[in-house]
Amino acid sequence: MVESKSNDVMERIVSLCKRKGLVFQSSEIYGGINGFWDYGPLGADLKRNVKDYWWRVMTRLRDDVVGLDATIIMHPKIWEASGHTTTFADPMVDCLLTKKRYRADQIEPQSGVAYHFSGAEDGPGASGDKPKTCGEPYSFLLPEGKHAEYARQAAKNFYKLRGLKDPQLLGERTENVQNSTRYNPENGSLLTEPRLFNLMFKTYVGPVESAENVAYLRPETAQAIFAQFKTVAEVSRQKVPFGICQIGKAFRNEINPRNFTFRSREFEQMELEFFIRPDEVVEAIAGGVAQPEGAGHPGKPQPNWGWQMWHKYWVEERLAFYEEIGLPRASLVEYWQKPEELAHYARATVDILYRFPFSKRDDKGELAGEELEGVAARSDFDLSQHQRFSGKSMTVFDEELKAAWAKLDEEKKAALTARYFENRRAYLVKTNEPAERAEKQARQEAAALAGGSYVPHVIEPSAGVDRLALALICNAYCEDEAPDEKGKLEKRVVMRFSPRIAPVKVAVFPLLKNRPELVAKALQVRDLLRPLMTVYYDDGGAIGRRYRRQDEAGTPFGVTIDFDTLGEQGESLKDTVTLRDRDTMKQTRVKISELPALLQERIR
Ligand code: ATP
Repeated sequence: MVESKSNDVMERIVSLCKRKGLVFQSSEIYGGINGFWDYGPLGADLKRNVKDYWWRVMTRLRDDVVGLDATIIMHPKIWEASGHTTTFADPMVDCLLTKKRYRADQIEPQSGVAYHFSGAEDGPGASGDKPKTCGEPYSFLLPEGKHAEYARQAAKNFYKLRGLKDPQLLGERTENVQNSTRYNPENGSLLTEPRLFNLMFKTYVGPVESAENVAYLRPETAQAIFAQFKTVAEVSRQKVPFGICQIGKAFRNEINPRNFTFRSREFEQMELEFFIRPDEVVEAIAGGVAQPEGAGHPGKPQPNWGWQMWHKYWVEERLAFYEEIGLPRASLVEYWQKPEELAHYARATVDILYRFPFSKRDDKGELAGEELEGVAARSDFDLSQHQRFSGKSMTVFDEELKAAWAKLDEEKKAALTARYFENRRAYLVKTNEPAERAEKQARQEAAALAGGSYVPHVIEPSAGVDRLALALICNAYCEDEAPDEKGKLEKRVVMRFSPRIAPVKVAVFPLLKNRPELVAKALQVRDLLRPLMTVYYDDGGAIGRRYRRQDEAGTPFGVTIDFDTLGEQGESLKDTVTLRDRDTMKQTRVKISELPALLQERIR
């Protein structure tokens, strides 16, 4: 299914989303607002089901993860501690002709002949006006198959934008350029030099718009978890290793929102911060640190797991999650970031990619995939930063460590202390702490291990709800053929959502709407199922048309109440209905009394 998809398919998906009310532009009646999307009835349920399932597997089914629901606007110091105020920026460039803005790191490298001009001066066409000159150089990369005049015309347009009426170009020269990202891939014009642009949305708290009242809409949900770490650990009586998870809105003033909802300015995240013991602590308690071996899930968590095993565990758990909601393993890519791509504090990051129809193709012609989620091993960086900025301790007391430490021989104590000291010192030095102070503090922290105290490390699986919803929509979209009322095959669009996350689970149809006995029975069935799942009742039009509508909505099951249900063909079929499967289109006869259990089993 995945291979045959193209951008043409993407267009059909976007149009289906609008037609069926899955997703459409925010503020549409005013022409929309770039980077913001609304979810209609079906989309809202799809998203809710995704979030509910995530919440279920991440916390309800586990003893070691608890939930949090924090505010969107938080103390601005949080973003200083996290580094967002200074480093959460993308390089942006503007086209010198169209003024269109791009992310510099997303410009495709191009090769060809560049036309350089040193400036321009007004010619006779500017008569009557005061002739101008412009000494600003301009360049243009000639698109393949175009004549040199094309580049000159573009340059003239540029100088016209600079106020010249009849630009005569000066200092023309050409150059062969290779893999340059200085030119606009859409029109060949030179781009501005990259400038850094902070992606956080700024606002003011209270009526006075002054510097001290500046606040930010959170660009991620994670930081609230770190900031509230101590409180949540205490009230939930959790001990490391344990996690805190949160689902909520995040905002990024993306330079170039694109690919439908994939890169939006307002979106939702599902994030887990799973706090673990530093490897030195694991070694003190368990006598050693397990190393990942081979591929696949490492199994049930063990006391001798250090960050590598925990990281692998969460990558595999997250991949399993995507498969459980219907994304085939072949549609996902497990991308290990290269050392040069890693954030400075990260020890390893795996991006889980989905092969979207709009993804670029790799060397083998396969869709390369775009990020759905990042699973990062972030060391103790985040909690240490909040400890430093807030002046509040982020250490935990670990009884097992204290007991184990007392039993270690001196050599082991010294070795573990030295390693821990070195890691802490390295962190403090990176934060510009003077060497002497860093050393003193790291020594104190390493000595505290003996008392069972340390700052936990963290593994962070961080996923986007909207990107996942889009992946599920792309994956579900399917065109096949189904017979119409007269048995003639016609094109059918069917959304093959996994029943687990399908917006509507079952549609209930009375065969005819003008037969009160059928309608009454159908309403009874609807009311029987309603408390258990999302039910759609539809009595409008021919039954085939009603099936088709539900196929497009991705409803996995259809229940039809007919004359057999009323017992008109004999007692044996009384109170039975036909149950239609969306994907196979097969119909089976099922007792009404057995429907709830049967459907619940299939949508679990
Ligand atoms: P990208 O490199 O694509 O901008 P990122 O690496 O900055 O993403 P993270 O900061 O790791 O993303 O955020 C975690 C998750 O949040 C992403 O994997 C993605 O699913 C989601 N996300 C991030 N930015 C956006 C956005 N602008 N629109 C929709 N979802 C987003």
